[in-house]
Amino acid sequence: MKWLHSLPGVSVVLSGMSTMKQLEENIEISSDIDTLSPEDMEIVKKAAQIYRSRTKVDCTGCKYCIPCPQNVAIPEVFQLYNNAHVYGSFDESSRSYSNLIQKEEDSSRCVECGLCEEKCPQNLTIIQYLKDARDDLYSR
Ligand code: SF4
Ligand code: SF4
Repeated sequence: MKWLHSLPGVSVVLSGMSTMKQLEENIEISSDIDTLSPEDMEIVKKAAQIYRSRTKVDCTGCKYCIPCPQNVAIPEVFQLYNNAHVYGSFDESSRSYSNLIQKEEDSSRCVECGLCEEKCPQNLTIIQYLKDARDDLYSR
């Protein structure tokens, strides 16, 4: 919240809330909002650069690509793939990928029909990324 309020041109921050506790927390934070120092902004910028450099797929999770006729859970696969590399949580991502295999929603179900790639606003080469994610997460 502080970071958002520190950005030039931002006068209102819309925060999604689904519980009363979140509403109370947001009111508390917003009642005493302060901006980040230039040093803190620089740290945030560097952290963002590091996270971005580790990201494997620039998937925003918008889900425009689903439903897939083969039931491939495209955004979930990419999230697991990214999490493994951004946060180093390879074991956890690999376990979750095994759950997708059991539910028959993993990358290997893809028949390369191309429907998802036509709908992706990020123009991602989804088919190739699904193969990369499978090779990475299934082998661990
Ligand atoms: S290319 Fe693969 S993942 Fe994409 S819609 Fe077709 S079967 Fe599903
Ligand atoms: S449409 Fe593209 S960006 Fe959106 S969830 Fe699917 S793969 Fe990710």
